[in-house]
Amino acid sequence: MSHIYRLNLYIPIILAVFIMSLFTVFAIIYAQENSIHESKKNTPALFTKYLNEKVDSEAAVLGEYIDFIQNMKNVTEQFKASNKQELNNSIKEIYDRLNKNINLTHMYFIKPDGTVLLRTHDYEKDSDIVERTTFKKAQELQSIYYGLEFGLKKNYTLRVVKPWYVDGKLIGYLELGKEIDKVIDDISGFLETHIYLAVKKEIYKDAPTFVQEELKQKVETANHYISYSTFDIPHQMKSILTNDINLNDIEFKKNTYFVSKSMLSDVSSKDIGYFVFLSDVSLEHTLMHYSAKIVVIILTIISSALIIGAYILIQKKERSIYLLTSELNGQKEELSHFNVKLQKLFDLQKNIVIITDKKKLIMANQTMYEFFGLDDIESFFKHHNCICEKFVNDDEFFHLGKVPKDQNWVKAIINLSGDKRIVSMLDYNMTPHTFSVSANEFEEGSYIVSFTDISYTMMEHKKLQLKLTHDKLTNALNREFFDNNINLIIEETKPHRLGVIICDIDYFKNVNDTYGHNRGDIVLKILVNTINESIRQEDYLIRWGGEEFIILMKIDTLNSIEKRVEYIRKQIEKQYFEEVTNVTASFGGTIYKEDETITQCIERADKALYTAKENGRNQIKIV
Ligand code: GH3
Ligand code: MG
Ligand code: MG
Repeated sequence: MSHIYRLNLYIPIILAVFIMSLFTVFAIIYAQENSIHESKKNTPALFTKYLNEKVDSEAAVLGEYIDFIQNMKNVTEQFKASNKQELNNSIKEIYDRLNKNINLTHMYFIKPDGTVLLRTHDYEKDSDIVERTTFKKAQELQSIYYGLEFGLKKNYTLRVVKPWYVDGKLIGYLELGKEIDKVIDDISGFLETHIYLAVKKEIYKDAPTFVQEELKQKVETANHYISYSTFDIPHQMKSILTNDINLNDIEFKKNTYFVSKSMLSDVSSKDIGYFVFLSDVSLEHTLMHYSAKIVVIILTIISSALIIGAYILIQKKERSIYLLTSELNGQKEELSHFNVKLQKLFDLQKNIVIITDKKKLIMANQTMYEFFGLDDIESFFKHHNCICEKFVNDDEFFHLGKVPKDQNWVKAIINLSGDKRIVSMLDYNMTPHTFSVSANEFEEGSYIVSFTDISYTMMEHKKLQLKLTHDKLTNALNREFFDNNINLIIEETKPHRLGVIICDIDYFKNVNDTYGHNRGDIVLKILVNTINESIRQEDYLIRWGGEEFIILMKIDTLNSIEKRVEYIRKQIEKQYFEEVTNVTASFGGTIYKEDETITQCIERADKALYTAKENGRNQIKIV
């Protein structure tokens, strides 16, 4: 029975959906937060724009009042006459009204040299010289000049100074001023932003004592006093001024504020401190959290739907895999039945029968296991993959060394003719056996190969071969062998040369006559043995007839043939022949020439032999 196959996909899918949802929520929050910040980032720029506009319009209004006052006859007279008391009496009422109605906080009557004649807003103080930039510029340019500037009391004040001419003659200057607090209040309301003026402590160094006293009431940080604010001062102000918090959110009084900053400078562009802006983004944040919640709800619904969908799909897939596996298992069972039958059929064969994919053994029959002394295929695989590794490396048979590089052994052996499809393998006793091999394609890529043991037939064949090619008495090669193989021997000698030697026993007739024909036969046998031991394995000894032999040997020069033949002669001379004791032989030798027949060559050797006999026997003659 096959079990339901489980696709372990639930946890990865749930994790993936969860991570995607989390990522989406964070991406939305990040994008919203970013857009809130982007919209609030330009608060300082807006503030500067409105402040400049406000300063311009306020300055225009104050300019009008200056014109009005400078045109008042009695005031002009008192000023010209430097009559402080009278001047104050004439202008005091107007100043009070302007103070009340338009928040005018400063009114200076200044002599042409900059000496203050009258501070309407501070009657007691006079006769000091005005050093402020607004005044200096008006004096230099001889025209109206205005700007934001600190005064003696260190109030950030809009000042408008205008030269005072009577009949084309400069009689002095009139300066009206308005503390900036009111202007900032207006812009703060308009921008819906809390604004703070953080003034550097060094600005207050030369402030009068009463101002210094007042400073004690102000909130201070390491380098600044908060000289003015439109709202309560947050405890994070220190971090804001040291730049630890900028263009970021802070929590203050249960609200969220976006913090931004701009430089605070006076009319002479002197760095005085900072304007700090706290823009309330609580509503936007609430909205953002609300929308994030909605997104989470939507995502939860979508994720659940996705997970349920995935669950149904996986269930379906698992079911179909189950059905497929069951079917496969059925097929597997059928296949194993088939294999058992095949194995039985295999085992009935007396031949070694195997199935191979050309490289590896797939299946083998009992005969093979018995031949190699193995239990099963596993024990075969311990040392080998392919039966071809068992082929004996003997050139008489087919073996792996004969397989062309681009071929496998099965293909190579199939292509051979029947008499060459023979391999030799050692059995468990290390006894060599000879097999005739036949192979047929079994399935695509695999072959059924049968090895028929032909050792016995081969042995018989070999025996016959020996009989056919060897002389019965001496076991030397016979003339028939010579006739059948001489052309082959001439070919295989190349590129060396073939030495042809005729050997004839001296006075052999006497041996027969003296010791009998049988003894003569024994002498012939011993002689063949002696010659065989004196020549090389590759040389041929042929019984040419009676007591005449031909020796064929691969040589290079006449000199080397001479040495070899002389050696043979000596060995015979030394050999002990029972009863007969000593036997000698004479030799005639020559080298085979390319353009002659073998008969011509033998005739030449024969003549040489004749010469050797003539010369007294037991000697060699090479020509
Ligand atoms: P030489 O060659 O030195 O001139 O003298 P020889 O006595 O050897 O001369 P010859 O060739 O006339 O004699 C060869 C003898 O070899 C004749 C023959 O009886 C003997 N003979 C030939 N074949 C055999 C054989 O198979 N067995 C025995 N025992 N004798 C053989
Ligand atoms: Mg003879
Ligand atoms: Mg002889």
